[in-house]
Amino acid sequence: MEANILMQFAQALAAGTIRVIDLSQPLDAATAIIQLPPEFGKTWPFRMEEISRYDSRGPAWYWNNFSCGEHTGTHFDAPVHWVTGKDYPHNTTDTIPVERFFAPACVINASREVEANADFLLTQEHVEVWEEKYGRIEAGSWVLMRTDWSKQKDAARFLNMKEDGSHVPGPHPDLVPFLAKERDVIGWGSEGVGTDAGQAFRFNPPFPCHTIMHGSNKFGLASLANLDQLPPKGAILVTPPLKIVNGSGSPCRVLALV
Ligand code: MN
Repeated sequence: MEANILMQFAQALAAGTIRVIDLSQPLDAATAIIQLPPEFGKTWPFRMEEISRYDSRGPAWYWNNFSCGEHTGTHFDAPVHWVTGKDYPHNTTDTIPVERFFAPACVINASREVEANADFLLTQEHVEVWEEKYGRIEAGSWVLMRTDWSKQKDAARFLNMKEDGSHVPGPHPDLVPFLAKERDVIGWGSEGVGTDAGQAFRFNPPFPCHTIMHGSNKFGLASLANLDQLPPKGAILVTPPLKIVNGSGSPCRVLALV
């Protein structure tokens, strides 16, 4: 056995004893984007335009232009995204220390509860039951809420928009300060279009995950997939956003090492 830890890592990847799980959704024109009330500005959907494909526009090469919002598809939320996180140093996609894009993950399975209730909110009690079984959430860990919501391939069902707003599961407003302050997590990840629940605009504070997580200099991951392939504890997430200068977030190819 090679003594060097990085060589051991490379060997484990090659041997398949460490597997890499893709936690990202495909990014195309059908990718669901968040719907806000009409008085607010709008994010762009993903759009792709072919420049050339081995043709008169470029005989030997294929490439595309694309456009989208920073918060389109599977993406990373930086602290500067929310007004509560705007004054932290190194709070933008280009300035967050790159070491913070590698962190362990705790995966809390709420798929059964969500099957019965699209508005299910993960509470501190749920997390404490999880901790009794799997151990305390360590400082610097991601907390990922597994809901299997990402299995809804149809954008309308994924957004689940009704007359009174979106109905998508997320964290209970009381859970967020517990995770941010008492567990000192690195951030929160969800399978929904955003990190907060669909009805979170009604909560106190509104959008608690954005308000309190970013207000505590924490990160967010939204539109995650394949959380059912992760162990409750022990996976390492790789989450680098694009190095957008002053970026509030970025589409992200989120990977898990298992
Ligand atoms: Mn976002």
